Amino acid sequence: MANATKLTPMMQQYQAVKDQYPDAFLMYRLGDFYELFNEDAIKGSQILELTLTSRNRNSKDPIPMCGVPHRAVQNYVDILVDRGYKVAICEQMEDPKLAKGMVKRSVTQLITPGTRTESGVENAKNNNYLTALVYDDQTKQYGFAYAELSTGELKTSQLGTVDTIINEALSLQTKEVVVDAKVSDALVQRFTKLGILVSHQDEIKSMAETSYLTEGLPSAVQKRSVAILLTYITETQKRDLAHLQRAVAYEPSAFLKMDHNSQYNLELTQNIRTKKKSGTLLWLLDNTKTAMGGRKLKRWLVRPLIDRQTITNRQNAVAELLNHYFERSQLTDALVKVYDLERLAGRVAFGSVNGRDLIQLKTSLDQIPQIKYCLGQLDQKILGPIDAHLEPVDDVSRLIEAAIVDEPPISVTEGGIIKDGYSHQLDQYRDAMQNGKQWLAELETRERKATGINNLKIGYNHVFGYYIEVTKVNLGKLPKDRYQRKQTLTNAERFSTPELKERESLILEAQEKSKSLEYELFVEVRDQVKKSIQRLQRLADAVSTLDVLQSFANVSEEYRLVRPELNDAHDLEIIDGRHPVVEKVMGRQSYVPNDVKMNSDTNVLLITGPNMSGKSTYMRQLALTVVMTQIGCFVPAKSAKMPIFDQIFTRIGAADDLISGESTFMVEMKESNQALQQATPNSLILFDELGRGTATYDGMALAQSIIEYVHNYIHAKTLFSTHYHELTALDQELAQLKNVHVGASEKNGELVFLHKVEPGAADKSYGIHVAKIAGLPAPLLQRADVILKDLEAHASPIESQPQATLAATPKPAPASKSGDADGQLALFAEPDRTPRTEPMSKNDQRILNELAQTDLMSLTPMDVMNRVYEWKRRLKK
Ligand code: ADP
Ligand code: MG
Repeated sequence: MANATKLTPMMQQYQAVKDQYPDAFLMYRLGDFYELFNEDAIKGSQILELTLTSRNRNSKDPIPMCGVPHRAVQNYVDILVDRGYKVAICEQMEDPKLAKGMVKRSVTQLITPGTRTESGVENAKNNNYLTALVYDDQTKQYGFAYAELSTGELKTSQLGTVDTIINEALSLQTKEVVVDAKVSDALVQRFTKLGILVSHQDEIKSMAETSYLTEGLPSAVQKRSVAILLTYITETQKRDLAHLQRAVAYEPSAFLKMDHNSQYNLELTQNIRTKKKSGTLLWLLDNTKTAMGGRKLKRWLVRPLIDRQTITNRQNAVAELLNHYFERSQLTDALVKVYDLERLAGRVAFGSVNGRDLIQLKTSLDQIPQIKYCLGQLDQKILGPIDAHLEPVDDVSRLIEAAIVDEPPISVTEGGIIKDGYSHQLDQYRDAMQNGKQWLAELETRERKATGINNLKIGYNHVFGYYIEVTKVNLGKLPKDRYQRKQTLTNAERFSTPELKERESLILEAQEKSKSLEYELFVEVRDQVKKSIQRLQRLADAVSTLDVLQSFANVSEEYRLVRPELNDAHDLEIIDGRHPVVEKVMGRQSYVPNDVKMNSDTNVLLITGPNMSGKSTYMRQLALTVVMTQIGCFVPAKSAKMPIFDQIFTRIGAADDLISGESTFMVEMKESNQALQQATPNSLILFDELGRGTATYDGMALAQSIIEYVHNYIHAKTLFSTHYHELTALDQELAQLKNVHVGASEKNGELVFLHKVEPGAADKSYGIHVAKIAGLPAPLLQRADVILKDLEAHASPIESQPQATLAATPKPAPASKSGDADGQLALFAEPDRTPRTEPMSKNDQRILNELAQTDLMSLTPMDVMNRVYEWKRRLKK
């Protein structure tokens, strides 16, 4: 860092501000630019692809610098904040022309990943949550709070364990968490590893305006978490937060609990591969017409209900809307015209609305009578409660109608926003301007007559004001005395007259005054609207609920969903169930529906069947059906009887947990453990091919003991798919376990997948068939068949001499499946295809030995490919 004494006054000012925001990029306003200096400039120029220059190039230590034009600053801020950085905006606080000495500057806003509100159309259906976490070492409890700055939503909960905290944070997809000093470094590091920015705020600044927001919260930690959150927001935003809603306490246990892994694995809102919405349950269910509805649907989806009455209420509304096509389509017509009331209300509070926003607000409010009319046609017992919340707020709509023109400009300071007739004073100014223009037109005619110059004209520009323009050829005709020269152009001269000057100042004054009066009037209207923020928020809440429910009804119609019947008897029966997303992607004709039958005497379904037959799909199908049921939507089946689940646990998929760097098997065991520790008889557990990640006997032993444990101690509804065929014998001992299998049939030695789930165990595991489809060499497959028979006969590891057996095998013929005959032969090291005469090398023997030892059933086709590839490579040596 340069020595402070050598800094220019401006750089001293810069440094003083920067010292207050060491962890943020400081955008320092200099005229028409925002400049970055020093480290900020070096890093910023790389991220933002800006040219790096320097401030005092010729000195010994020049200061690195880069800048962005002030009009474009938002784009650059967005890029930095998207990358997880903070940006401090430092403005000039006085007009540089009027300033004596250094222009005063100060930071007007600190934009951070969690406090960003300017997020563009593509984010309209996403929430951006800022969270706060505090710890109380007396009660050993955490206070957890979150807020969405653009809508004013504010919630808090008391949490006991680190796992629940991480789950909440991940479910909310928060990008930033504010912690107090009691939160441990270990926890801070976990957030950081997960890509969540951690900010520190230990001191609570109590603010009279926000104190009511924490009123009535049930515990001290919760209050503190909200207070820390509010302090941080106020410190960073430095503007009015009148739209923040009073904090609502919630219990995570009031919702269907799904850990983050399950949400992720089930692809509820995010596609595992693309990280996008496409291909998710949200994508299927989202037929919402408003951005607020879209955000609410997403919130419902990650927090399904467990309260039977609330689920039933939603189902009733969906059924009513589904059965009234005409009213529903009228309703959606009205909803389409409703803008983002929630975020508009937020902008009103921030003071960042413009005329167009107010017109959007009015247009939205104007739809409410139509929406109420539609609801009036439907069963009041069902939709009455929503209708009751739809207060039209028509005073606001009338105010905007009276005050704001239909198509206002973007700027709020340049005039043209306020309607004629709204303000007498403004009308007078406008008259003056209008008269002035009239007078100018008359002057033009008069002067033409007086001078005889027909192309003489009156014009205006910013620098010279009003002028009379005369082309050079006509200059001779001008009377010298009255005309004063103002400006010379190539073929014309511009003049003024005393008379014109006088009028000019009158017109310009009227214009100036009318602009500033318009701005005043606009601010008055905005402040008036601000008084209705709470009513607007309540309205937004009702509209978005209705929007989600109509979306459910639409989707139910489109995808032939049925209303699930709820029961408390642990009775689950889905007839002809479907995986709605797979079905949508592959097309209705190709999808094979399947039943899931688990009555109160069946708790475990053991699912066998070949690879790729549909085991995983079947399990996910059930989980999605449960989620859809408990958010109040209808479900993809011919009929469904559903118990209400309290938790869903999944152990699905084999992707390594890359973030924490743990091995697949470790993750597998950890996830299994969570289920075993926390599941209740009301939970749903999905174990997909557990035990895959370790040696066969090891894995099988674990799998079997886990099944027994779940069956004997937990009694949760459990789907367990397995490639350990041996486990199917468990149905002899475990009364509440049933075998099902996904059917496959063989045609001419080829495997045909039927995707049909049927009672009983699969008759074999088909691993070798899958290997054949994968194109493995025929001799290898034949050998595997022999080993399998041997294994099935002895049920013990091979002890025979593999190389002896193989050596006795006649020379293999090329396999029919693969086109790469050379490659297959190469397995036996015969590159020239001539019969082999020399004895086998040590190397080759070793490879054959490994081949014989290979347990195909514990390998995926990909593993087999890799091994064969490796053998081939070694044989070529
Ligand atoms: P497994 O877990 O048994 O290996 P998956 O559940 O991954 O099999 O399914 C493999 C593929 O089979 C899926 O990607 C899908 O294309 C298809 N499939 C699964 N279930 C069905 C079904 N019920 N109807 C039609 N196709 C299905
Ligand atoms: Mg699978």
